[in-house]
Amino acid sequence: MKTDAFALRHIGPRESDQQHMFKTIGVTDMTQLLYETFPDGIRLKNDLQLDPAMTEYEYLTHISQLGAKNKVFKSYIGLGYHPAIVPPVIQRNIFENPGWYTAYTPYQAEIAQGRLEALLNYQTTVIELSGMEIANASLLDEGTAAAEAMALLFDVRTRDQKKNNANKFFVSEEILPQTLSVLETRSTPIGIELVVGNHETFDFSEDFFGAILQYPGKYGQVYDYAGFISTAKSKEIKVAVAADILSLVKLTSPGEMGADVVVGTSQRFGIPMGYGGPHAAFFATKEEYKRSMPGRIIGVSQDVNGNRALRMALQTREQHIKREKATSNICTAQVLLAVMAGMYAVYHGPKGLQYIADKVHASAVTTAKALSSIGINQANTAFFDTILVHADAAKVRTIAEKNEVNFFYPDNKSVSISFNETTSIADINLIIAIFAEATGKESVNVSDASTEVHLSEQSIRTSTFLQHDVFNSHHSESQLMRYIKKLERKDLSLNHSMISLGSCTMKLNAAAEMLPLSMPNWNSIHPFAPADQAQGYLTMLKKLEQQLNVVTGFAGTSLQPNSGAQGEYAGLMAIRAYHISRNEGHRNVCLIPSSAHGTNPASAAMAGMKIIVTKTTPEGNIDVEDLRARAIEHKDDLSCLMVTYPSTHGVYESSIIEITKLIHDNGGLVYMDGANMNAQVGLTNPATIGADVCHLNLHKTFAIPHGGGGPGVGPICVNEKLVPFLPTNPIVATGGDKAITAVSAAPYGSALVCLISYGYISMLGAEGLRSATEHAILNANYMKARLEEHFPILYTGECGRAAHEMIVDCREFKQNGIEVTDIAKRLMDYGFHAPTVSFPVAGTLMIEPTESEDLGELDRFCDALISIRKEIAQASAEDVNNPLKNAPHTLAMLTAETWDLPYSREKAAYPLDYIAENKFWPSVRRVDDAFGDRNLICSCAPIEAYMEH
Ligand SMILES: *Cc1c(COP(=O)(O)O)cnc(C)c1O
Repeated sequence: MKTDAFALRHIGPRESDQQHMFKTIGVTDMTQLLYETFPDGIRLKNDLQLDPAMTEYEYLTHISQLGAKNKVFKSYIGLGYHPAIVPPVIQRNIFENPGWYTAYTPYQAEIAQGRLEALLNYQTTVIELSGMEIANASLLDEGTAAAEAMALLFDVRTRDQKKNNANKFFVSEEILPQTLSVLETRSTPIGIELVVGNHETFDFSEDFFGAILQYPGKYGQVYDYAGFISTAKSKEIKVAVAADILSLVKLTSPGEMGADVVVGTSQRFGIPMGYGGPHAAFFATKEEYKRSMPGRIIGVSQDVNGNRALRMALQTREQHIKREKATSNICTAQVLLAVMAGMYAVYHGPKGLQYIADKVHASAVTTAKALSSIGINQANTAFFDTILVHADAAKVRTIAEKNEVNFFYPDNKSVSISFNETTSIADINLIIAIFAEATGKESVNVSDASTEVHLSEQSIRTSTFLQHDVFNSHHSESQLMRYIKKLERKDLSLNHSMISLGSCTMKLNAAAEMLPLSMPNWNSIHPFAPADQAQGYLTMLKKLEQQLNVVTGFAGTSLQPNSGAQGEYAGLMAIRAYHISRNEGHRNVCLIPSSAHGTNPASAAMAGMKIIVTKTTPEGNIDVEDLRARAIEHKDDLSCLMVTYPSTHGVYESSIIEITKLIHDNGGLVYMDGANMNAQVGLTNPATIGADVCHLNLHKTFAIPHGGGGPGVGPICVNEKLVPFLPTNPIVATGGDKAITAVSAAPYGSALVCLISYGYISMLGAEGLRSATEHAILNANYMKARLEEHFPILYTGECGRAAHEMIVDCREFKQNGIEVTDIAKRLMDYGFHAPTVSFPVAGTLMIEPTESEDLGELDRFCDALISIRKEIAQASAEDVNNPLKNAPHTLAMLTAETWDLPYSREKAAYPLDYIAENKFWPSVRRVDDAFGDRNLICSCAPIEAYMEH
C-alpha cells in the first residue's frame, strides 16, 4: 500500500474499520452496499479517465512549477481590481487558518459569535464609508451586486403609483465594462430595458424607474453626482451608485449625495486579486428597503439572559426562501473575504485608511504632474487614484510590458493608470520613464510625493467614519492577533468536530489544497492581465474544466459562476439562449419538484421563467405521473426541468432515466442541481442520467472551504447542445461561440480558489474520487444503522439504504415539548454543530457525514444524538426546565454562584465522557431571533445611537 496516497489523508475510515461498519449496516462488503444503494442502470462501466493521482508532495511541486508560468507584473489596470497588501497578521490568522476558513454559514448563532462580530465590523465599515443606513454581509462581486441593486429598485418601484409600468434603467457609460455585461444579462429576462448614456445629458423621463452611476468613473474621473441624484429624486427615479471603497475615505459619500443603493467590491481592503476572485462585494441601502435587500444581514439581538448576541437577521425573508417570488437567488456569498476586509478596517482604523487613501491619491497626483512637466497631459479634471493619459497606446504598451508593467488601454490613443496601496516612488519613476521613452521626451525623476489634492471642494469628504472602539483599538500586531483569536474561539469549525450538514457537504479542506493560494504567482494576477502573463492560470483552469467534463460526462464547462445559485442562473440562461437560437424563444416553463432547494425557483424567476411546481410522493420521490401530466400539459412551452440528484431527500430515484426522457420527449431540457454530486462522482454522472446541464458546488463536493458562508464556485457543465452558449466576458473572451453575456464580473469567476478543486481532483485521481464517494455512502449508511433504532429515518431507497445523507425525523418529539431547534442547540453542549435543520422537510435534521470523517468521530456524533434521544424521553411538554430547552449551557452559567436547575451541572455541560477532554463552550445562551428582527441593528455603532430615533 502506498501510505503517502492523498486518498488516505482525505478519506476518514481506515481499512481496518470497514468490517465493523459493514457488519453494523448488515452487508458483507462495499459491493453489496453499493448494489443495495445504487440503481444498476446508471452505474458507470469504467473508471473516470483522469491523470494518475499525485501525492501531496508531488502536487505542491507541480503547482509551484505551473505557478512560475504566471508572470507577476506591476498592475495599474484598475477597473475594479487593484494590488492590495494583505496584512500578514490577517493572512496568517484568518486566510490560512482553518478555524476561520472551515466554518459554515452562521445559522447556529450561539457557536458563531466570532464571525458574526467580524461581519458586523464589515457591515459597519460599508455603512459608514458609503453613507447609507444598512448593509449586508457581502455579495459575490461588483457586477452582480450592481445587478442586485437594479433588481431591488425594480422591485420597489411599484411603491410609487407612477412607476408601476416603468421598465427603463439608465446606466452611465462610466460603468465598468464587466458590470455593464452582467447588467445586460440580468435585465433582459425580467423585462428591464437598459439605456446606456452620458449622465450629464440624461433626460429624466417618466418611463425610467432607476439609474446606476460609477463613482469615480471607469477611467478615474470624479463627478459630483448630487445634482443628478436630486433631479432623479424629483422624478421618482431611484439611483444606485457603484463606488470604489477606498476612494470613499476621501470622497463625499454617495449616501450624502442622496443615493438609494451603494454597491462595490471590497477587494482593495486587503484581498489578493487572485486572477479575478474571490472578493466580497458590498451592498448598502436605506432602512426602508431592508426587506427587499438581497443576501444575509448580520443583526444585533440578545440571548435569553438579555446579553448582547449577534445573529443573521430577517432569516425568514432570505431571498431564496421567497422561491418563485424572489428577486435574488443569493445563498452562498463571500463571507471569508468580507471578514478579511472588515479586519483590514479594524487593523488600519480611520487614520490608517486615511493614510492609505492619501498615499494612493498622492501617487496619482505626483505622476500626473511629472508627466505634464514633460508635456504629456492627462484628461481627468478631478481624480482619486486613476489618470487617463493620451498617448500612442501600442507604443506605450510595448515599452511597459518590457518593463513588466500593465496599464489599461481603452483605445489606441489612451492609457488608463490606476494607482494602489503598493505604489512606490520608484514605481512612479518607472511609469514616467516608460511614457518619456514612448513619446521621445526627456524623462524626469521625482523624489517626493506631491501633497496637492486634485478634487473639487464638494467632492472632498468632510464626515467622519469608523469612530467606534473596535476600529480604534487593535493597531498593534499583538492586539489584532489576540482579537482574531478571541473571535475564532467563539466559533465551532471543522478543526473542532464534524459538521454534518446535509446538502452542504462539509468535508476536509486539505492543507495541500490550500497552500498554493498564498503563493504570489497565483494570488497577484489581475483578471484582465494579458494572456501570456497568465499561462499558469490558463493551463490550470483548462485542466480543471477538462476534469469536470470527465466527472460529469459533459462536453464543456464554464467556471464563471461564483456560487451554486449563480450556476443555476447561468445554466438556465444557457437553456434560454438555446431555445431562442432554435426560434423557440416562447419555451419558458420550468418544472420544479416541490422538494427542490429554494434557490431553484429563485434562479428560474430571475431567468424570466414561468415556474410550475410538481408533486412529491409520500416516499419523497418525484411524483412521476404528476410530472408527466405537467410536461404534457406544457409541452408547447416547456423550457426545462430542474432536478436534484440524488434527491434533496438523499435518495437515488430509480425513475431518473424515465424522468429525463419524459422532459426531452416534450421539448424541454434537463437542469441537474449538482449540490449532491458527492454521491455521484465516479459512480454515475449527470450525462448518464440524461441531464443536459448541471452546476457543481466546488465548495461542497470539490473541497473548497465554506469560509463561514463563502467563497463559493458554481461552475456549469453542459452537453454539446449548450456549449455554444457558455458565458463570456467583455474584456477576456470566454465561453462558446454564441456566448451569453457575463454572469459574473471576472472571466473565470473566483479563479484563485479553483486551485483547491484542481488539487483535490489531481491528488485523488479516478480511483480516489470513486473511493471518496463510496466512503461518503458507507459513512451515511453506518450512521443510519446506528441511529435508526432510536429515531425514525425518512425516505430511504428501495432496499432501505440512504445515499450520502439521511433525514432524521424529529416531529414526534413535539409530544414531549421538544422542537428540532432544541436538539440542534443541545448538540452544542455535546461539542457538535447541528446538521441541516428543517430542510428539505420541516421538523427534521438532515445528516451528511461525508467521507472525511473517521469511525471514531461518527461514533461520537451518534452517541451524542442517542444520548439526546434519552433526554427527550425524559422531557415533558409541561416542564420546560430540561437540558434541551435550556441548551446551550455556557461556562458563565456553570460557574455561577447559584445553580438552581433540576439537573446537575455535569449533566448540563459534560453529558458524555468524550466531551471532557475537548469541551467547546458556546459563548452566549440561546439567541432571540424575533427580538433582533423587531429591532434591526446591523452595525456596531453603540446601541444608544439608535435609541435616539
Ligand atoms: C447549496 C445548495 C444550493 C445553492 O448553492 P450556493 O452555492 O449556496 O448558491 C442549491 N441547491 C442545493 C440542493 C444546495 O444544497
